[in-house]
Amino acid sequence: MSEAELLARHRAVLPQWLALYYDEPIEIVRAQGRRVTDAEGNTYLDFFAGILTNAIGYDIAEISDAIRAQLDTGVLHTSTLYLIRRQVELAERIAELSGIPEAKVFFTNSGTEANETALMLATQYRRSNQVLALRNSYHGRAFGTIGITGNRGWAASSLSPVKVSYVHGGYRYRDPFGSLPDADYIKACTDDLRDVLQTTTAGDVAALIAEPIQGVGGFNVPPDGLFAAFKEVLDSYGILLISDEVQTGWGRTGEHFWGIQAHGVTPDAMTFAKGLGNGLAIGGVVARGDLMDCLTANSISTFGGNPVATAGAKATLDYLLDRDLQGNAEKLGHHLIAGLRDLGERYDIIGDVRGKGLMIGVELVESGGKDPSPPNAAALLEETKARGLLVGKGGLHGNVLRLAPPMTLTGEEADEALEILEASVAEVAR
Ligand code: PMP
Repeated sequence: MSEAELLARHRAVLPQWLALYYDEPIEIVRAQGRRVTDAEGNTYLDFFAGILTNAIGYDIAEISDAIRAQLDTGVLHTSTLYLIRRQVELAERIAELSGIPEAKVFFTNSGTEANETALMLATQYRRSNQVLALRNSYHGRAFGTIGITGNRGWAASSLSPVKVSYVHGGYRYRDPFGSLPDADYIKACTDDLRDVLQTTTAGDVAALIAEPIQGVGGFNVPPDGLFAAFKEVLDSYGILLISDEVQTGWGRTGEHFWGIQAHGVTPDAMTFAKGLGNGLAIGGVVARGDLMDCLTANSISTFGGNPVATAGAKATLDYLLDRDLQGNAEKLGHHLIAGLRDLGERYDIIGDVRGKGLMIGVELVESGGKDPSPPNAAALLEETKARGLLVGKGGLHGNVLRLAPPMTLTGEEADEALEILEASVAEVAR
């Protein structure tokens, strides 16, 4: 069956709002390292899966072996009502890595569930259903998380059980005071936070939830220290800080293991998912013990932290720590960002290049100005694909290319991607 036939069947039976990339969507049937092959035999360098699923790459023997060893026991899963050795071991590792004092971990199957859990903990702990979030944020696809997502394009329902107020600080490139120097920008955002607290809430807010670098929102990097300034205000109200590390965790930002560490603050809770499984479904929350234990009713997740997912996740974590993939992300991130900034100097359809480590956004604008250009981004997605490179797209206006390769990326592959991007930008700019 061709990809075109599969697409027709997909359209007939799956929801119309289930977005697919590309004019001719691809079916990936094989993968190795940082490359994937589609059903028609085309091979691509994958510069997007690093964030979505395969944090460190495809077909890694150490990880496959750990998963296979679990499969060989016959126990894919029985019940989270029994002890699961790998779950305990993985929780211990994550609790220690989190830097949160006396941390405890709850495993879920996805980032959405992780954030739903964090919201439940915070609202229960504070006995308040008011939450603060950043404008332009993305936190998931369930009822509560959709309600706090600050991007209408991804918030399919407005009937939220959570009362949310939005603050600035997410999307500096287009924030009203985004052009201010770092310190002044931080002050303006902190003043905005105080103002929002005094004008749109009763003060008894449960938590501020934020992505240290917005993912779906277009890889937006706030100045280091923003969340430390926020935390001072939050602390004066007793409001909790939840860091959504679903995209920024596990060393992807290069300089730090968790995105929030760039700000020199320890959050009350962090949520994680995606990359930890390197393709398997796993997510979770790591939180202060008293916060995690504030629930008094039983709460389990049928599949969260199952033996297969935790075996794979533990092997992934070992692999990325043993090989200092965070250091690799930092080094190649600098290289890619420098190359892309150089490209940005030469082509005025590139409005902004930003990022940290292997989480890099390229914002496309109308030639010479700052108006967002979704058509240029869409055209670039096709041009890069035609040249054998898969990249992501995002941003409030759908005009940001998102580059997030697996963290085992090599220097040669980084250069190959830069060359393809250069040729593609030249074609679109023409
Ligand atoms: N938080 C962030 C920051 C995300 O990027 C995403 C997924 N794009 C989620 C939460 C939701 O994760 P999942 O898709 O695994 O439910």
